[in-house]
Amino acid sequence: MRKIIDQIFDTFRQKGHLSYGEDVTQLEHALQTAYFAEKDGAPPALVAAAVLHDYGHLLHDLSENIADQGLDGLHEEVGAQYLSRYFGSEVTEPIRLHVPSKRYLCAREPDYLATLSPASVQSLELQGGPFNDQEVAAFEESPHFEAAVQLRRYDDMGKEPGLEVPGLEHYRVCLESVLK
Ligand code: FE
Ligand code: FE
Repeated sequence: MRKIIDQIFDTFRQKGHLSYGEDVTQLEHALQTAYFAEKDGAPPALVAAAVLHDYGHLLHDLSENIADQGLDGLHEEVGAQYLSRYFGSEVTEPIRLHVPSKRYLCAREPDYLATLSPASVQSLELQGGPFNDQEVAAFEESPHFEAAVQLRRYDDMGKEPGLEVPGLEHYRVCLESVLK
């Protein structure tokens, strides 16, 4: 089972240079998101989720700027489904819900939309736009919704070009500790 961590790290090394659609690469974005989670004292499952939340982008071989073509690759579903073979729901559910969390926050926090990066605003429309009241209520029923919203906040922070943060190996022990 531990081999999966090597496999994941290899994928990051091979495809992590791809653009995230902001001014950072996929690998930089993953490492920055994890850095902010760890710095905030998040539990290991949430730090692991932060490293892996956009792993779905590296799994599907769609072009890196599919949102520009009006397509949604459903990276949150692709990633969560793949990773659920190896990690429990406390890792994979926040991953699956990190996109709905954006739609949730846009509905709940009037100022949130203004803080989003241009790429996040662009993909928001493809993802269905802000939640309505019914969708907000349903989302709050999920046992993982608070973790997912927290992950979303780290995700939004992890887009700083040139920010120096620990590398992949820093997260090996954490990832191993939350394997199934
Ligand atoms: Fe994402
Ligand atoms: Fe992200």
